[in-house]
Amino acid sequence: MLLEKLELMSSRLSKLKKNSVRTDFFSASKKYFFVAVFVTLALTLMLSSVAVSAEPQSRRVAVVLFNFQNDNSQPYTADYARNMVFGTISSYYNEISYGKLSLEGDVFGWYTIPYPSTSCQYTGWANAADAKVAESGTSLAGYDNVIYVFPRTTACGWTGLGQVGGKRLWDNGRLTLGIVGHEFGHNLGIDHSNTLRCYNNGVTVSMSGDCKEVGYTDPYDIMGSGTFSTNYAAHMSMFHKGAMGWLEASNTKTVTASGTYTIEANEVQTAGVQSLRIPITDGKYAGKYYYIEFRQPYGFDDYFRFRDTPASKGVSIRIAPDYARFTQTFMIDTTPETLSFEDAPLLVGRTFSDGKISITPLAINGRS
Ligand SMILES: [Zn+2]
Repeated sequence: MLLEKLELMSSRLSKLKKNSVRTDFFSASKKYFFVAVFVTLALTLMLSSVAVSAEPQSRRVAVVLFNFQNDNSQPYTADYARNMVFGTISSYYNEISYGKLSLEGDVFGWYTIPYPSTSCQYTGWANAADAKVAESGTSLAGYDNVIYVFPRTTACGWTGLGQVGGKRLWDNGRLTLGIVGHEFGHNLGIDHSNTLRCYNNGVTVSMSGDCKEVGYTDPYDIMGSGTFSTNYAAHMSMFHKGAMGWLEASNTKTVTASGTYTIEANEVQTAGVQSLRIPITDGKYAGKYYYIEFRQPYGFDDYFRFRDTPASKGVSIRIAPDYARFTQTFMIDTTPETLSFEDAPLLVGRTFSDGKISITPLAINGRS
């Protein structure tokens, strides 16, 4: 049975600043930066499996443009949709998968379906749109994914909707990388990127036995709130990349002893360690790991430079299980005294500790 995740991204997304951005996605400096991380462990650890790398694949995607009996508007041209999905979004997935996933396919429509837009009958709409494509002599059966695009309607309380591990996704009047890229991630099976708000006697702290999980608020992952503009969105975390099979075995290191470790930035393919993880042995998250990663303003993360983001000045720490299954991630807020999660990453020189494990980024090398 397919699950469907309802999205309520519109209100938060509309609050994001609409800066002008560069559209040369791959012009960012390829100069490598590393961060050295000092980890102290007061526990016994076991080794576990690492990711198995997937073969490169291309997904066949149909984009179906339709409108309604009461709204015949066509907010995008077929060329715009083609460029967004098979240009920008395909480039995004190709980059974040280190060349292992791209999108190819066709755009159909516009069609006017025999439904009004006044109630959110998205399954009926999709079936009617499929019938219109069939009338034109094409079957959608051979496509891995179908993206349904229609004029914005307030009848649907979401901007994007995607079947988790399924074929269909719906875009409610905002055909952008942030919306469609996120929902496409759900189609691939990927779950949300969240944060933790933890309390100790009513005071917010980084980690405690009293943590609330805050839905898709991770600002540094497209599966959270990591979108910036029509053409920019954050890379996925190393956990999601590992779960997708996009990492080589050498990219993940499971820490089994205290020491100093060096990790390379998430965004660029390397044989080095990009995902450093420490097993958690106690409490609610026992059996999971702290995943430590480092971000730089490369490629689709290039927008970080406009925001001088903390993610590129230290390490991000997320809780997730082994890569063997798709699930949600939970980012730790290392500055819990502020309500914002933008400052969740652990800056160089600061220390996160849960009482047994402590993590301190020592230095970012290569800075000129
Ligand atoms: Zn979602």
